[in-house]
Amino acid sequence: EKYGVNQLRKMFLEFFESKGHLKMNSFSLIPHNDNSLLLINSGMAPLKPYFTGQEIPPRRRVTTCQKCIRTGDIENVGKTARHGTFFEMLGNFSFGDYFKHEAISWSWEFLTKVVGLDENRLYPSIYEDDNEAFDIWNKEIGIAPERIFRFGKEDNFWEHGAGPCGPCSEIYYDRGEKYGCGKPGCTVGCDCDRYMEVWNNVFTQFENDGHNNYTELVQKNIDTGMGLERLAVVVQDVDSIFDVDTIKALRDKVCEMAGVKYMEDEKTDVSIRVITDHIRSVTFMASDGILPSNEGRGYVLRRLLRRAARHGRLLGIEGRFLAELSKTVIEVSKDAYPELEEKKAHIFTCINTEEENFNKTIDQGLSILNGFVEELNNSGKKVINGENAFKLYDTYGFPLDLTKEILEEKGIEVDTEGFNKAMDKQRETARKSRKVSNYMGADSTIYEDIDTALTSKFIGYDKVEASSNI
Ligand code: ATP
Ligand code: MG
Ligand code: MG
Ligand code: MG
Repeated sequence: EKYGVNQLRKMFLEFFESKGHLKMNSFSLIPHNDNSLLLINSGMAPLKPYFTGQEIPPRRRVTTCQKCIRTGDIENVGKTARHGTFFEMLGNFSFGDYFKHEAISWSWEFLTKVVGLDENRLYPSIYEDDNEAFDIWNKEIGIAPERIFRFGKEDNFWEHGAGPCGPCSEIYYDRGEKYGCGKPGCTVGCDCDRYMEVWNNVFTQFENDGHNNYTELVQKNIDTGMGLERLAVVVQDVDSIFDVDTIKALRDKVCEMAGVKYMEDEKTDVSIRVITDHIRSVTFMASDGILPSNEGRGYVLRRLLRRAARHGRLLGIEGRFLAELSKTVIEVSKDAYPELEEKKAHIFTCINTEEENFNKTIDQGLSILNGFVEELNNSGKKVINGENAFKLYDTYGFPLDLTKEILEEKGIEVDTEGFNKAMDKQRETARKSRKVSNYMGADSTIYEDIDTALTSKFIGYDKVEASSNI
């Protein structure tokens, strides 16, 4: 029997409940009291106050299935088998309670006994100096030394500036030769889709004083994260996250709407996968109350939605289609996320309005863009100037990376610096004009400085996001 996504989520949470964990609901995608992050990107992120000791957790063992968004992975979406901008992260956490022994044993027990994966396909990795983890894997679990991979700080040490940090141990699953890159030396840790990372166990045992002096923490923590979609890929033995039951239902709907078949043409497939992924992000973000805008989270929503809309065009879909598609997202996920059903009307309005707005200008924008491309081709240039890219953004609503993506397909780059300059110039003009009308005695521009995360827009947010490992 092959477990479905909804079943696997339940199995995980129940397993850790049986080990004394408190099951908590997924937190919102919008971080609470945390300016370092634009969107929640791991199970651990909303639990930070419990890890730092700022707040007392309701129990020292907690388990969650957390909705996550990683826009930093957007380039991978549709191209690898394992990355989505939206995904669900299963996690078990210990706040000064159990440590490595239990974390490792339970992850193994869950994968091999509860869902029944073949142990011969599983490979752990550890931080190179973590002999404690090595001994647990080797002596207690019984994994042969040559099947345990030691990696350096970059891969297997979780650290976020000053504060709690520590080594981690990841679990990889060998999906077989047909998924390999075929390059010599392709093994655990290779970037291709054969040895897929499914689970990351982080052992926060040190405190970094900010100058790389490490002391052992009195309260040692466990923070783990496993992608639910990736777990489903290996359990269901399918090609990619776009083939697991719930996401396949969505993918099928995209194909039906576009009148295309999956797996017939690579370019078409990328578009199908991009739409399938992005509509999940968009639907969940809207359900958490994020509205499209030109900054911060709203800009992420806007850019994902518009990118999906443009890929819809590439597939030949005419008119609005995204709200209809979000119905399937709601249908397959509403049991675990009741907010989807509750906010249904709002989600549809949000998507319809934004798509309608973009549809009004997209054709014009595309033809202007084609004009630019023709000019460049005629003059033999390979870089579009920033002002033209800004015009597409400002007048036709083309997010910068949408312009970049379209041009990349034609071998043309964008002068990003010039784009930013044009953007700054326009902001300055807007700022000046606003200063004239000061609001109840206060200069209205002060509000722009209140929440830096909210105003950091696209130029900054990948940096903020990419900085978190798990
Ligand atoms: P990868 O190396 O494959 O990009 P990661 O090391 O960035 O993964 P972690 O930060 O360790 O991932 O997150 C914990 C788990 O969350 C991963 O082991 C994986 O199962 C899952 N995961 C991470 N990023 C994604 C994504 N973009 N889409 C789906 N699942 C993901
Ligand atoms: Mg990653
Ligand atoms: Mg990794
Ligand atoms: Mg990892």
